Amino acid sequence: MNKWIRQEIQQLSAYKVPESSNSIKLDAMENPYKWDMEHTEAWLKILRNVSLNRYPESSANEVKQQLRSVMQIPDNMEIILGNGSDELIQTLALAVNDEGRVLLAPEPSFVMYRMIANFVRMKYVGVPLQVGDFELDMFAMLEEIEIHQPALTFLAHPNNPTGNAFFVDDIESVLETATGLVVIDEAYASFAEHSFMDSLYKYPNLLVMRTLSKLGLAGIRLGFLVGSPELLGQIEKLRLPYNINTLTQLSAVFAMQNYEVLEQQTKQIKIDREILTTRLEEMKGIHVWPSQANFILFQTKNAEKVFERLKARNVLIKCLHGNYPTLENCLRVTVGTSEENKIFLQVLEQVIED
Ligand code: PMP
Repeated sequence: MNKWIRQEIQQLSAYKVPESSNSIKLDAMENPYKWDMEHTEAWLKILRNVSLNRYPESSANEVKQQLRSVMQIPDNMEIILGNGSDELIQTLALAVNDEGRVLLAPEPSFVMYRMIANFVRMKYVGVPLQVGDFELDMFAMLEEIEIHQPALTFLAHPNNPTGNAFFVDDIESVLETATGLVVIDEAYASFAEHSFMDSLYKYPNLLVMRTLSKLGLAGIRLGFLVGSPELLGQIEKLRLPYNINTLTQLSAVFAMQNYEVLEQQTKQIKIDREILTTRLEEMKGIHVWPSQANFILFQTKNAEKVFERLKARNVLIKCLHGNYPTLENCLRVTVGTSEENKIFLQVLEQVIED
């Protein structure tokens, strides 16, 4: 039967999510905190009255309204909601794809840019980041943009898996040079110093993409795209009806109404990120990259072995060795609770010396 599945799809390997039931889970950039009992009870009270027999509100207006109030979304800009920002990447690719059209992104970056280009049969161009500091290689970027005239360019700011935020001037040069749409993927905005939300009015080709996943709500799957009403009015036509389910809508509204809880958690994660960075830097044989996200990229000797040994001791992080040449012997750890970070460091110290 496989002959009916397109060749490119047969050649893809599916996005793997490792088993993690008994582990300290520091592999997926999740917020490690749950809500306290008081918030959980208040949330459950809202869910008790849900009419699950009815379709969700298709435009999810209340969600958008709440997002506007806490995310500094400019009044004259439109919002599109996605079932996670993954879905929005796919919607954008479907909207722009046509004969010979190119999707461009620096590498290494979020793997779904390349994968989704493949899904929709769009030509993908990956431009290597500078070796060493993972900044944009501006000579290569601008040259590739001139040559390929990409319909869609993705810049993750801060970048996954490297954790750095590219220089703002460099991103502005990309916005000025590219004639196609440029999406600044701000999945990690809550942990970063800079956002392009305020620059939307300056660049008609700019779209800002965010997600609630890293902020503390990975389970509800809600991403959003902000841009000019002209542009988003077109892209909205591709959004599947009811893509944001009722439980997600109600939970997102509740979470935004209690935003200070998430802000407090984010603040703590940023403090713990700095402590974790310092501790890692103090360890022998480790190179650490500075991070503006909720994870840290570091390099060891024998990363695969270190990863397996951590896993055997129930500490799950991400091994990036083999994913991309400049990620040789690299590992990525998500910032957990102070206690989880302490255990991770203790176990790491043991397994590195083994
Ligand atoms: N963008 C970046 C840069 C990411 O790292 C991720 C998740 N790893 C996403 C988008 C997707 O986020 P979600 O689909 O959970 O909204």
